[in-house]
Amino acid sequence: PLAALPETRAAAQPDGRAIADDTVTLDNTAFADRVARAAALLVRMGVGAGDVVAVALPNRVELIVTLFAAWRVGAAATPVNPALTTSEMQYQVDDAGAKLVIGEGLDLDATVVEVGALAAEPALHAEPAAVEPGALALLIYTSGTTGKPKGVMLDHANLAAMTEMTRAGLGMSAADHSLLILPLFHVNGIVVGTLTPLLAGGRVTVAGRFSPKTFFGLVERVRPTYFSAVPAIYAMLTSLPEAGSADTASLRLVVCGAAPMPAELIARVERTLGVVLVEGYGLSEGSCASTLNPYDGVRKPGTVGLPLPGQEVRVVDSNGDPVPQGERGEVVIRGANVMRGYLNRPEDTAKTVVDGWLHSGDVGVFDPDGYLRIVDRIKDMIIRGGENIYPKEIETVLYSHDAVLEAAVVGRPDGVLGEVVVAYVALRPEADAGVGELHDLCVERLARYKRPVAIELLETLPKNAVGKIDKPSLRLLAAT
Ligand code: ATP
Repeated sequence: PLAALPETRAAAQPDGRAIADDTVTLDNTAFADRVARAAALLVRMGVGAGDVVAVALPNRVELIVTLFAAWRVGAAATPVNPALTTSEMQYQVDDAGAKLVIGEGLDLDATVVEVGALAAEPALHAEPAAVEPGALALLIYTSGTTGKPKGVMLDHANLAAMTEMTRAGLGMSAADHSLLILPLFHVNGIVVGTLTPLLAGGRVTVAGRFSPKTFFGLVERVRPTYFSAVPAIYAMLTSLPEAGSADTASLRLVVCGAAPMPAELIARVERTLGVVLVEGYGLSEGSCASTLNPYDGVRKPGTVGLPLPGQEVRVVDSNGDPVPQGERGEVVIRGANVMRGYLNRPEDTAKTVVDGWLHSGDVGVFDPDGYLRIVDRIKDMIIRGGENIYPKEIETVLYSHDAVLEAAVVGRPDGVLGEVVVAYVALRPEADAGVGELHDLCVERLARYKRPVAIELLETLPKNAVGKIDKPSLRLLAAT
């Protein structure tokens, strides 16, 4: 089980590498020792089975240590984005009912433990708590594009199922070495970046804040076998002058998910980095990935791949009945990876998980070979004069222009039509195209009602904490 992973690794290979960051490198023995110390501190502070520990830290070794320490004493962890304001943090800490918060210089109305105290505690040599599969392991707060952030409850069975599926899907082994650049307050960073390689016997190097300027130097120094990132990061990386010449030979693959990845960008990543890009799809409520393009098999750019073995993925109509292949509908997911629910929100849970099927809120369609294409998000759909418009279709047209680095399409409220289409575009640094050319492209490729009434250029598009293009703020911008 995951909860016992540090001890298991230490027993099997005491001096094997486990995790490292800028300041410390831990072998398996040191990793298990750190976890035992942090667990001892939690016990001394009165944390036990059924409690929740909040941890508000940037990505660093202590954050991973805290997750395992919480699990070792039978508690759950809720990672808090350290960039949140004090009141946003307070909301999460209160909502989660956290017994204490681990962080650095935090000013919260809660029991706060300084991160430095974790390693100073004498190690706990008691037997680890026997963790039930149904025990809560993680509370992940969704970014809250709709209403207040909700705590997604993932238990040990969810995480065990998910990491095993990801391990198999990405063909991970003890030789793998993850360069962790995604935040640890989301499932992608936790599952793909951290737990899966550790479960497979591999290792993790925790990078500090992602910086395009230093990234390739880091890859050359650390020599990871893979990393997981989001489209915005790949767009940045491939537009760097050194992208083509950096030594990326250590990479076996790179993983992408979280937001639509334009097929052009996949091709550009594979070409400039000389590496296989595996795109997957999933959501926090499903513990992480639900589909993956096969690492050893046919990958279809523009699709998010095949359902992971062990999960059922369907495309259904508004009654929940599967639609014929090739038709659009809502993507629903069933399997051991589906969350237990939203913490203290039975009504939201009942709307989201119906008869065991997780309703994703995404519009999808299966191709004849069973590959899933994500058409759009139901809540991003634009309704213009009664016609449904999928922003992604228009974004795909814009992305097909060489000069376009990023594109996002949103609805602008309109007195007559309800909504009209507005596009925001960031051009590549050296691009010499103008808005006129982009309008021409839309005229050529899109029916009149789908064409943007305005295409506005921005230096860069706003992103949320996970690096996804922040559509809610673009919608606000469009409305003003
Ligand atoms: P919130 O629920 O707070 O609004 P969110 O929906 O972004 O935030 P996450 O669980 O972080 O929550 O992300 C899951 C969503 O990300 C999916 O429902 C889907 O819309 C999108 N997504 C994930 N992977 C892909 C992908 N490969 N292609 C397109 N969209 C994706």
